Amino acid sequence: MFAGYQPPIDKAAGIDLVLRVRGIVQGVGFRPFVHRVASRLRLRGWVRNDAQGVLIRAAGPAAQVEALMRALTEEAPAAARVFAVETLSPDGAMDFPAGGFAIVPSGSQGLPVETVVPPDLALCADCRRELLDPRDRRHRHPFINCTQCGPRYSILEYIPYDRPHTTMRAFRMCPQCQAEYDDPASRRFHAQPNACPVCGPQVLFRKAGEAERLGEPALGQAAKLLAAGGILAVKGIGGYHLMTDATNESAVAELRRRKHRDEKPFAVMFPHLAAVGQAAEVPAEAASLLASAAAPIVLLKRKPGARLAAGIAPGNPWVGALLPYAPLHLLLLRAFDHPLVATSGNLADEPLCTAEMDAHRRLGDIADAFLDHNRPIAHPVDDSVVRLAVAGPIRLRRARGYAPVPLRLPGRIDGCWLCVGAQMKNTLAVAVRDRLVPSPHIGDLDGAATRDVFHRTAQMLEKLHDAKFTRVVCDRHPDYASTRYAEQTGLPRVAVQHHLAHILACLLEHDHAADNVLGVAWDGTGYGEDGTIWGGEFLLLQNHEASRFARLRPFRLVSGEAAIRDGRRAALGLAHAIGPDRFSQVARRLSFLAAETELFGTMLGHGVNSPVTTSAGRLFDAVGALLGIGVRNRFEGQIPLAVEAAAMAAGTARTDLLPLPLRAVPPGRGAEAELDWEPLLDALLAASDQGHTAAELAAAFHHSLAHGIVGVARAAGVGTVALSGGCFQNALLLNLTTAALEAAGFNVLVPRELPPNDGAIAAGQALGALLELTSVRLP
Ligand SMILES: [Zn+2]
Ligand SMILES: [Zn+2]
Repeated sequence: MFAGYQPPIDKAAGIDLVLRVRGIVQGVGFRPFVHRVASRLRLRGWVRNDAQGVLIRAAGPAAQVEALMRALTEEAPAAARVFAVETLSPDGAMDFPAGGFAIVPSGSQGLPVETVVPPDLALCADCRRELLDPRDRRHRHPFINCTQCGPRYSILEYIPYDRPHTTMRAFRMCPQCQAEYDDPASRRFHAQPNACPVCGPQVLFRKAGEAERLGEPALGQAAKLLAAGGILAVKGIGGYHLMTDATNESAVAELRRRKHRDEKPFAVMFPHLAAVGQAAEVPAEAASLLASAAAPIVLLKRKPGARLAAGIAPGNPWVGALLPYAPLHLLLLRAFDHPLVATSGNLADEPLCTAEMDAHRRLGDIADAFLDHNRPIAHPVDDSVVRLAVAGPIRLRRARGYAPVPLRLPGRIDGCWLCVGAQMKNTLAVAVRDRLVPSPHIGDLDGAATRDVFHRTAQMLEKLHDAKFTRVVCDRHPDYASTRYAEQTGLPRVAVQHHLAHILACLLEHDHAADNVLGVAWDGTGYGEDGTIWGGEFLLLQNHEASRFARLRPFRLVSGEAAIRDGRRAALGLAHAIGPDRFSQVARRLSFLAAETELFGTMLGHGVNSPVTTSAGRLFDAVGALLGIGVRNRFEGQIPLAVEAAAMAAGTARTDLLPLPLRAVPPGRGAEAELDWEPLLDALLAASDQGHTAAELAAAFHHSLAHGIVGVARAAGVGTVALSGGCFQNALLLNLTTAALEAAGFNVLVPRELPPNDGAIAAGQALGALLELTSVRLP
């Protein structure tokens, strides 16, 4: 943590040095904190912001200076994140001010911009107290904030993070706010969004045919509309939510109808933690996540008899819970005092609405009214989504509160690289020096509106880093919108294979050397080196080379894209690979019409519109269909989620393993070995016919996969296994696989900071380009 200049020690004068602090250290109360500690230690010197973070000059007895250095990491404000402290020579540094220790004005001195953009932070305890205190001048001010809370990334347009560079520049601080802003002793010293009821933003309630209402009457009308079962669009931190009473079945059904959203679960914002506990099981780890500064949506097991409309998450044992994180939400939830659906304010597959005009246009047919405010949102930021696994939380969506916190690259790069990610759950990332900055979740690039956000985010990150892109890194899939964007930039381009990028992302966050490791990349679809659809891959990283050590046995997906939505077609593909008898039997079991069976049989037989795949996600779909657990993916991963839920419902009942042997593949056939699912499928169907329940068999399926992965790991002969890919969003699969591998003596790396899904691809692309590890060798 401490590196650099070694100061001479003078017994009389002590030591004198300059400390460079890197990390999230601006706009988080860091300078007042340094001032406080340095004054306590009676040091002479100063602290200031610059383009690279915070610079401190400290002089005094060696023990006191060292105490300051320790305090920088050990006592830093909650919202700060210190990545590194370097010691520099005081030669040429600005002199001491008169007196002891002072906060001095920012300087840039032409240094390259390296400060970190802080993420948006949920309302802190101090501000919450003031918000609810009738004697406080910010009593019920929906935009209260301080250095420990409030919007950051979502209002930031330029670096460094100073008020004129944020969307708050439109609001001129009143004398009282300005005095706080200028006072190092204040909680609001240089809190860029600082505001109060006199000088800050305002809420407005807007309903067609009614007069606009401002302030308290706006909140009152909003709560009244919700109480009457209405649908309210609420402008928050990173965009709009659509809200309605989560206990009102018909209100929830109406929101689904208007939003054209069949079954995809809605998140629910609860008034307080106790209310979450009434509706769902809240382990201690979930409680602290919900109450954290990131305040993500946390997937929790719904309690039987919970007072929530069934339409929140049809047929789904989970509820995505979150707590009010903006003061505006808290005021609304206190007025309404029931859980509220808080789903993204967008149309299906479109980006979040952020501007009033746009929201009124796009959400006008969904919302009965709007609760707007006049603080502009610079960039859309979705709510983050987290679920719990044994090894810790898994970030399914890394957005508000987490992004754009950077990761450290294991080397320095020249120039500035744009890593464009994948197609689904797109996230892009910028690599500069030894830093990798992943953007917040952007979304699926199928829609033009989302592609537009993608373009703007790329441009904005370039601007924020005061750099010009010199290289672009993309997926090998030629049809990804991100790949086409990469081509259009005209920059030197590197393509990294999809599943390799998954594994590299996991290795990056664990600071692993990307050598002597087996990567298990299981997902729905990714473009393979041989042009087929990969998704059940075991990649061996050794001697600066990645090779496809093993795979799931390939099968065909009849009717391509349509098979992704229909689990029965995946099952038919597996059955066809086994043989004609199994094919007819499975077709009957899944109630295909005779004509369909014949057509699909012909297509599979001739390989017409039936691409070859090794997708583990599709194997889950097939098993879900065969066990009667689910046949349609109306949203991504719906069947696999149902298979996991069924397996969890089986509890700790004894689980027999289904056979999943590892077989050698002849040379030149794309992998050294493959896990053969045929015996597993045979056993599953036989057990099902013998009356074993779907839940039992779903559990056996999970255990068998975990066991199968251990078998491959043993054969690969390396000590470390990294798990990544969308299939490991399945907490049961992740838990069982991790436990089985660890029991067999393996060191296991799992995604923690980055999502297991395609949200991590951009990060993996960066590491691939840095290590020049971009393709997978086929044995
Ligand atoms: Zn605060
Ligand atoms: Zn003010």
